[in-house]
Amino acid sequence: MAEKSFLVQKFARIPLGMHTVIGYSVAGEETVTQVPELNVCFDVGRAPHFALTSDIVCITHGHMDHIAGLPYYLSQRYFQGMKPGTVVLPRELEGPVDSMLRTWRQIERQATPYTLIPMAAGDLHEVRKDFGIRAFATHHGGVSLGYALISIREKLKPEFFGTPGPELARMRKEGIEIQYRLEVPLVAFLGDTTAGPVFDHPDVQNAEILITECTFFDPAHKPKAKAGKHLHLDAFIDLLPKLKNKWIVISHVSRRTGVRRAKRILTKKLGEERMKNIMFLMDFDDAIAGGDIEDAGPPVSDTAE
Ligand SMILES: [Zn+2]
Ligand SMILES: [Zn+2]
Repeated sequence: MAEKSFLVQKFARIPLGMHTVIGYSVAGEETVTQVPELNVCFDVGRAPHFALTSDIVCITHGHMDHIAGLPYYLSQRYFQGMKPGTVVLPRELEGPVDSMLRTWRQIERQATPYTLIPMAAGDLHEVRKDFGIRAFATHHGGVSLGYALISIREKLKPEFFGTPGPELARMRKEGIEIQYRLEVPLVAFLGDTTAGPVFDHPDVQNAEILITECTFFDPAHKPKAKAGKHLHLDAFIDLLPKLKNKWIVISHVSRRTGVRRAKRILTKKLGEERMKNIMFLMDFDDAIAGGDIEDAGPPVSDTAE
């Protein structure tokens, strides 16, 4: 058995088809989740090393466990000669985050460059012609957004199937719309949220990979879930029939329950069969039955998370 240590922080790495979910997420402590193939990190936690490699960071809300590492992420990228980081964030946070980063420039005496992309629910930030990030509203009490990574494809309209290439080229030249736009949600990340209309959003229901919080699992923690506007297991189970995702990754589990016990409780309620495409971010291969992640950290408290 490995010795418990405060000196080692482990990160999850889950390969799911074409994409990989890398991250660390414990409620109130740190949440950072990366999809390296898409060059995006959702929230930045305390800016672990792997997060530095993403050109884009999408911030869901202002709680410290999700945003603390932002100045470090930007500063380190500049220091290491990487291109300036782009920060996608709720528009209400643009002002305060900008002023924090300007203050850091003075503190550090380094002209760290950065780009802020303020977003409102429904906005699509087109990163490239074929890839975008859409924001949607979540329900966490204050300002909060979730994000979906969207593959944007131009497809030939069915009525032009079989039309020879030169003919299509001629029509295009004449300004005839021969293609339509197809948006495919690849990954959706909810950040912190309680149950609500976010679970009716088509990107959330259909994303190939859905990364959702589920913070509380014990019946006694229902009031905590309500007060903190987080998902409790019972609400998650009620929402599950709506979700058509190929994979669902659960994050932001409270240390009060621990990921191993949370998984046992959920499996008992849903059955092994339904659990086949549901996984816990922090369910490491070598985590011991009691959960070493759960124990290796400061005691839990009731700060906003
Ligand atoms: Zn949180
Ligand atoms: Zn929060």
